[in-house]
Amino acid sequence: MSKHTPGPWHSNPPKAQNPSRVSVTACSGFVRIYEAHLSQETAANASLIASAPDLLNALRDVEWGGTERDEDGVEVHACPWCGCEKDMGHDSGCGLAKAIAKAEGGAS
Ligand SMILES: [Zn+2]
Repeated sequence: MSKHTPGPWHSNPPKAQNPSRVSVTACSGFVRIYEAHLSQETAANASLIASAPDLLNALRDVEWGGTERDEDGVEVHACPWCGCEKDMGHDSGCGLAKAIAKAEGGAS
């Protein structure tokens, strides 16, 4: 697992000294995550990129938040996307697992 710059990340609107740039920064502005010429698309990209740490944390929070019943009828933690039990791991096609792996630098 790669370790990304800690959140929160902030999408910054253009500044007076550089009105044609949009950026995403972290660590109180000391780390620049993304910078691009301002357009509707790059502004939307900045918002999406800035939300990445929060989205990853949300995915991790819900990853095993579902419940299923095992063969003995006992309720167990399961993935809400693929329904697989935590002890068994995700189904190979699980979109939630793929999204987490991609965010962590794994298979996309
Ligand atoms: Zn899953």
